[in-house]
Amino acid sequence: MTDGTEVSDELYVRLKAYEGRATATSVVGKDLVNEAMIRHWCEVMGDANPAYGGPDAIAPPAMLQAWTMGGLSGHTDRTVVHDELFGLLDGAGFTSVVATDCEQDYLRPLRPGDRITFDAAIESVSERKTTKLGTGYFVTTRMDVRANGEPAGTHRFRILKYAPAARPKRPGKRPRPVINRDNAGFWDAVAEHRLLIQRCGGCEALRFPWLPGCSACGSPEWDTVEASGAGSVYSYVVMHHPPFPAFDPPYAVGLIELAEGVRMVSNVVGVPYDKVRIGMPVQLEFLRVDEELELPVFRASEGGAG
Ligand code: ZN
Repeated sequence: MTDGTEVSDELYVRLKAYEGRATATSVVGKDLVNEAMIRHWCEVMGDANPAYGGPDAIAPPAMLQAWTMGGLSGHTDRTVVHDELFGLLDGAGFTSVVATDCEQDYLRPLRPGDRITFDAAIESVSERKTTKLGTGYFVTTRMDVRANGEPAGTHRFRILKYAPAARPKRPGKRPRPVINRDNAGFWDAVAEHRLLIQRCGGCEALRFPWLPGCSACGSPEWDTVEASGAGSVYSYVVMHHPPFPAFDPPYAVGLIELAEGVRMVSNVVGVPYDKVRIGMPVQLEFLRVDEELELPVFRASEGGAG
């Protein structure tokens, strides 16, 4: 037995001790079962089953979990069990998580007006498994849902908490632009080191990015004007995460306002990522990324970084 296996066995014993422990007790659903949420769900799912409308409507059974969700503000009455279990796994290097599957049992139909309450617990933790994604543990949480105090269903939710498998490092290429008949003219001009803005043939509104019609007047007629290349940083974000092949975080992504008034997303070059500022003047140039790709980027003007 190797050291690594002994460590994982010991971890498994500690993880196993969480089986049966409550992660939430007698939590009350944020809304009564209601027609509006049922209608929205059916529209999103494209489910036109007549059982979900009218005076005798029931809620779609597959909505079971929806009535237990905390929304953006979350539920405040969870126990620390889930966080502790995840903390153990994170601490042992199993830092990634992916949802794998869920199972539901329906015990009674839910109807508008029903008050939902639920309990949840860690039902099981698997032995250490190796999957394509990496090595880790499957954790199943079981939620028992009640409607007006009566058992209404169970919802089992399984995740894999894992250490990602090492992948061969590839330098990676910048993503290619998707060139189609609506924007081919733009990329043709970039190849000639010109930045073209579309101008509506109906109302003369300038637009960027290129589109087949005018959003102001609807006209499909257009021609182009060449950008002078002058602009300024209208806004920006600094990307730290997630890492992406061919990009080396942290880096700034700028929303550049051209002198002509339209805005485009691009890179600001010639200045460190943490020195990019809103309002900073920039000047168009063309960056040869690789043998196939050239991109319009914007260089911070002389003194702009001050
Ligand atoms: Zn127009």
